[in-house]
Amino acid sequence: MLQLPAIPVAPGLAVGEAMVVRDLREGVERQPIEAQQVDSECLRVQDALDRVAGELEDDRDRVKVDLGAEAAEIFAFHLGLLRDPALREAILNRIRGNLDDAAHATAESILDLSRRFQALNDPIFREKADDLLDLERRLLRKLGALGEDRIQSIDRPVILIAARLTPAQAAGLDTTFVKALVMETGGRTSHVSIMASALGIPVIAGCRGSTRHVKEHSTVVVDGDAGRLLVRPLDDELAQLREMASRRAARIAEALDHAHEPAVTADGVEISIQGNIELAREVKGLLEVGGDGVGLFRTEYLYLTSSRAPTEEEHLQQYRKALNDLGGRTLTIRTFDLGADKVGLVGPDPEPNPMLGLRSIRYCLRNMQMFRVQLRAILRVAAEGPVRVMFPLIGVHSELRQARMALEDVREELLEEGLPHSRDLPVGMMIEVPSAALMASSFAREVDFFSIGTNDLTQYVLAVDRGNDSVASLYSSAHPAVLRMVKDVASAARHHGIDCSLCGEAASDPCLTMLLLGLGLRTLSLTPSRIPDIRRVVRSVRMADCERVARRVLRLESDRQVLRCLQEELGRAAPDFRAEQGS
Ligand code: PEP
Ligand code: MG
Repeated sequence: MLQLPAIPVAPGLAVGEAMVVRDLREGVERQPIEAQQVDSECLRVQDALDRVAGELEDDRDRVKVDLGAEAAEIFAFHLGLLRDPALREAILNRIRGNLDDAAHATAESILDLSRRFQALNDPIFREKADDLLDLERRLLRKLGALGEDRIQSIDRPVILIAARLTPAQAAGLDTTFVKALVMETGGRTSHVSIMASALGIPVIAGCRGSTRHVKEHSTVVVDGDAGRLLVRPLDDELAQLREMASRRAARIAEALDHAHEPAVTADGVEISIQGNIELAREVKGLLEVGGDGVGLFRTEYLYLTSSRAPTEEEHLQQYRKALNDLGGRTLTIRTFDLGADKVGLVGPDPEPNPMLGLRSIRYCLRNMQMFRVQLRAILRVAAEGPVRVMFPLIGVHSELRQARMALEDVREELLEEGLPHSRDLPVGMMIEVPSAALMASSFAREVDFFSIGTNDLTQYVLAVDRGNDSVASLYSSAHPAVLRMVKDVASAARHHGIDCSLCGEAASDPCLTMLLLGLGLRTLSLTPSRIPDIRRVVRSVRMADCERVARRVLRLESDRQVLRCLQEELGRAAPDFRAEQGS
């Protein structure tokens, strides 16, 4: 049996027959044309662009009915591109200038644009390249350069292994037949992964070599929990995996039965377990698994699923939907966490080091108009229920103060306009920059709550790019340097009497739960599908043990030692859970 590692996106285990869809670009060879064919090739392109625009409008309307207005928004980007004269001109110039055939000129022009997106060196913006692929696929089909679209005509149960998939393709997969999804590229938080994780099937991404190593119709196993693809398992291995899958299904059913019991430790300490969401429609699923509220609404997806900045009404509509669905539970809205490199189609030149550049709150403070639109909508929705606002990537006090001033200014504007808005909106900040963690005591005097973002904190403390595969082994939120910061931030918050949650991926890892509680955290915000497991760990452990574990761990030197120690402690405190996880 061959085992390919991958990034887990949506949990679950599926065994089935592989359907392999390789990169669609493979088929577009250049067919040079004669000068007298230029006009007819140009006309073919114009016709294809117009027909695809019509087709996209139909698809958008269909998706709107099936999946809601938000999912339909992903088509806005495609339509914006098709209507952009720059793309049209680029294709026509290739036909006229290089005597390229229509299909090749189209594929190459889209490839150029895609490279420009990739060069922006930002994981989220790179996803726009997937949208481009979708557009290319549609245009090439209209130009007669692609055969049958295999993904759309799946009519038997398969495990889909795709070199790349677009968000629109992911949203349109028919889960009656697609039992699991493997993507060769992408990451856990990529746009296509977010769309795919809403399908309710196991999904893995970044599974390198999968389309090369897997033969069509062969049997494969997708493990969405551990993040791996198993190719050609032997009969006894398969039997073992099937057994694992049925134990897992039973465990989930049991966890869901207990989803609405409070998360209280065995010695009576109540823990709030909230969810991280990217789209308002995820709230329903969050409540099904027993989420206590939204601890992180990553609002930048409102922007990234559209071709332009959302209007105040569009913000308001999304926040209102999330708040209404939460039925009285708290909604924590994080303001845009965009980078300069995530903004605009052609945008400014790529920054040499975008993770240390004009991203997040820094970008918002430089683009005050856009920021104010969002702040107005947040203040308005906060008049309708329990809403909190949170500023990301605060590193120095002046950033926090400027953001607060903008909020106050916008509040006065709403007052003058006579629009209902909140007067006492709780204001918090993410602690994800080492300077903010080290100065937490001082920041605690100026905000109502903290939320620790270990994803970024880890990359900045350890100087390891969180999105770079080649240094991935050095990236670990379990490193004692990160953990010491978490402890200090939690105690600064406690000392000043403000709330402190943790919303980085560390909160989703059952192995770290005892430690996080022991370090003083009482609120965790995590990927909704992980909530049942974390709740189960909380209910099995005693706070006294968690505190002992934290003391033990803080004496260690490396993340490996920490993880070994935590596995051992979890095994002792929650033996059943640990055994199931290990199986
Ligand atoms: C974090 O950095 O931990 C966080 C939650 O924010 P994001 O992953 O959106 O950067
Ligand atoms: Mg962050």
